[in-house]
Amino acid sequence: MRAQVISPGIYTYGAMVIGGLLRSAGASVTLHRDFSAELPPVVFLSLYSTQHLLDPAIRDYISRARESGTKCYVGGPVSAVPEMVLGELDPDAVVIGEGEPVVASLLTKGSPDRIPGTAYDRGGEVVINPPVPPLTLERPLPFIPDDIGSQDIRGANVYIETHRGCLGACSFCQVPRFFGRIIRSREIEDILAEVRAFREKGARRISISGGTGSLYKYKNGEMDPESFITLLSGMADIMGPRNVSAPDIRVDCISDEILDAIRKFTIGWVFFGIESGSDRILARMGKGVTSSRAADAIAACRQHGLAVAGSFIVGYPNEESDDYEQTKSFIADYPLDDLFISIAEPLPSTPLASLAMRTPRPENPLFMAHTGEYRPLNLTEAEARFFDLSLHGAMFRTRPLLVAGSAYDSFLAEGRKQGREIRAVYDILEKYSGRHGAASSRCGRVGNIQDCP
Ligand code: SF4
Repeated sequence: MRAQVISPGIYTYGAMVIGGLLRSAGASVTLHRDFSAELPPVVFLSLYSTQHLLDPAIRDYISRARESGTKCYVGGPVSAVPEMVLGELDPDAVVIGEGEPVVASLLTKGSPDRIPGTAYDRGGEVVINPPVPPLTLERPLPFIPDDIGSQDIRGANVYIETHRGCLGACSFCQVPRFFGRIIRSREIEDILAEVRAFREKGARRISISGGTGSLYKYKNGEMDPESFITLLSGMADIMGPRNVSAPDIRVDCISDEILDAIRKFTIGWVFFGIESGSDRILARMGKGVTSSRAADAIAACRQHGLAVAGSFIVGYPNEESDDYEQTKSFIADYPLDDLFISIAEPLPSTPLASLAMRTPRPENPLFMAHTGEYRPLNLTEAEARFFDLSLHGAMFRTRPLLVAGSAYDSFLAEGRKQGREIRAVYDILEKYSGRHGAASSRCGRVGNIQDCP
């Protein structure tokens, strides 16, 4: 049978894994980043952003496909609240959580009826069959498209998976809710066979996907740095160390040997999710670390000759101006080589989504009108903080950037865009929160989280 996997915009690793499973189940598979290919009998849409639920192009595609008799199944992190996916996109079924045990059954049965890990609409009633996580992470090689070498996601062609789950409980993150908090690691031989397959298909730069790379093979309360180092060394042997990166790491999951290995076997960058300079906000985020721990981690990386990037979140519900000023001070006191700033986005099923729904809009920086120095720009407080921190971050990088002209305009446009898109997420969460707890956390759910630091 012919089957298509569509991953809008980019070839996600999760979409490639699903493609590989379908191929090994006997399907003739193609993988696409857009909706231009001829309709097949079955299509699996791998959706990784809440914005996909609001995208008229995706909705129109599903409607057109179903009208012509194509079976449409939607999976990925958006499946955290299946009612939302069914209500907004109206596919034949939603694949809930980890899709591996589900997709081949959908292909062969042609119906989600009684297949665990599916949700569908049966005459106006939403049926949810609870997911069953895969017993093992052993699987066939992913379906790797011929033009994988042309893809560029933050400098890498692809982000591969080494393990699932995270010990952390960050309120804004879907990883522990989607994959759980127990670490399940893949076998090193399987990962290296996959790296070779990507290289043979033309990938030139491979990164380990988001989460915390150094938790690889974590077991019984113990990190296993030796396995992580062996993995990096094996990847470097295949790709060359300048073509491997393992950037995302928690500030409390580093050691001298891990940092040495990152310098020796990778491009030498570390990416920390620092999020805030305010310990009050870090506690509210459930980060489990303080700002001084983040400062120590940056200093440790410097001692090991590593470059350090950090991400920051502004406009968290109830973030006060004093909290925000502490984030600015942190950035000035501990200069980074690169910074990523975002406005707090309440992903469905996370504790942040619950908090966002509980916080009255007039008290939420995302909706409050900014009345400070950027008042003529007509921004909300969260947008103004995004804009201000982008300017501030550029000035306090290890190599300061001069912000003028188009860079200034792009910071401003990005802040406005994020504000607009996240307000739309609030609307959709509100729409479904009364129906089935879209705003509430559903810990224990076990997708592809593309770039989660
Ligand atoms: S943000 Fe990172 S450390 Fe926190 S829960 Fe997600 S993957 Fe874990």
